[in-house]
Amino acid sequence: MFEQVKAIPGDALLALMVAFKNDPNPNKIDLGVGVYKDDTGNTPILKVVKQAESYLLAHELSKGYIGATGSPELAPLLQKLMLGENHPLIGSGRIATAQTPGGTGALRVAGDLINAVKPEAKIWVSDPTWSNHFHVFAGSGVEVRTYPYYDAQRNALAIDQMLACITQMTAGDVILLHASCHNPTGIDPSFSQWQQISKAVAERGVVPLIDCAYQGFGEGLEEDVQGLRLLVEQCPEALITTSCSKNFGLYNERVGALSVITETSEANQKTMSQVANCIRANYSNPPAHGAAIVCTILSDNTLRQQWEAELAEMRDRIRLMRTTLVKHLKEINCSRDFSFIAEQKGMFSYSGLSKEEVLFLREQHGIYAVDTGRINVAGINANNIERLGFAINQAIQL
Ligand code: PMP
Repeated sequence: MFEQVKAIPGDALLALMVAFKNDPNPNKIDLGVGVYKDDTGNTPILKVVKQAESYLLAHELSKGYIGATGSPELAPLLQKLMLGENHPLIGSGRIATAQTPGGTGALRVAGDLINAVKPEAKIWVSDPTWSNHFHVFAGSGVEVRTYPYYDAQRNALAIDQMLACITQMTAGDVILLHASCHNPTGIDPSFSQWQQISKAVAERGVVPLIDCAYQGFGEGLEEDVQGLRLLVEQCPEALITTSCSKNFGLYNERVGALSVITETSEANQKTMSQVANCIRANYSNPPAHGAAIVCTILSDNTLRQQWEAELAEMRDRIRLMRTTLVKHLKEINCSRDFSFIAEQKGMFSYSGLSKEEVLFLREQHGIYAVDTGRINVAGINANNIERLGFAINQAIQL
């Protein structure tokens, strides 16, 4: 069976991680992999997570299966986090949330659900988007198309082209929108642009699939879901995929969720039976521990406040690195204007650096960014920021 198997090229980002690991340069800088790092270059476990885990260790009574749709406690907690405490959808029967293994698991179940209930629907993703969106939806057997998103000339959102594309989509197609901290560009719509987008999506009868992987990493817990809330208000149906990997630092615990919003509660019950069926065929039921951590934190006032403070610390550090890098590049009279980096949101930034410039950084300075010019701003710290500025300034003079 396996003797004739052809190897397929590995993921470019994973290859970059391996190259970084094998680089003997003591001053190497990792701006590739998409995890948060603190000022010492570590991906920390939040203190509040440790506290919740000690509580769970003492109180957990069973390791029994938790059912296909996971923790029933997690569903209302995540709904309130995303939609707001007293949102009319909560408890209306029109929204249901299934816990999944990470945001990726949620996206896969969403893809499988679409394929099960409307196989002719296409999923439209932004150009560019997180590359795994293509793999995941291909795995579900759903056709993927792209809509314009990034205007390379202005380092800004290509809003006019995006809106024009939405008006051409087939009603009943699905449009994937990043709730905040767009991966890979770092460019989010402004509030007025979200108003235009949600109006266009609702008018066209396209179903929004909102990928909420970075709530709290951009501007704040509330600010980062303003587009999501507009979409849910204006569209009768929506899908939301949530990841708790970044904002709780629970990358390897695989905590996420798929929320399904339908026009009626009857449709919701039927649709959730399809969701449960997709889950059973995939992994039967999700892991319990990470979701229990999130529930413990979100359902306790003290722990929740502590979590919000630690989340703000991560967010503020990323923002500080953005502004400090821009300031430093100005101070050393860099001839290219990088001020847009300070305007972008979340961990990622389309830096505008060309592939040649990225390769120069890697080969000459041991600085690892993705070939597209995407950098993980969380990889910058007080120790390496001047070296990075110096190297960027050299790279652009090629
Ligand atoms: N969506 C986007 C836009 C992401 O960037 C990521 C993580 N890189 C995910 C979803 C998936 O996150 P998770 O690790 O929870 O599967």
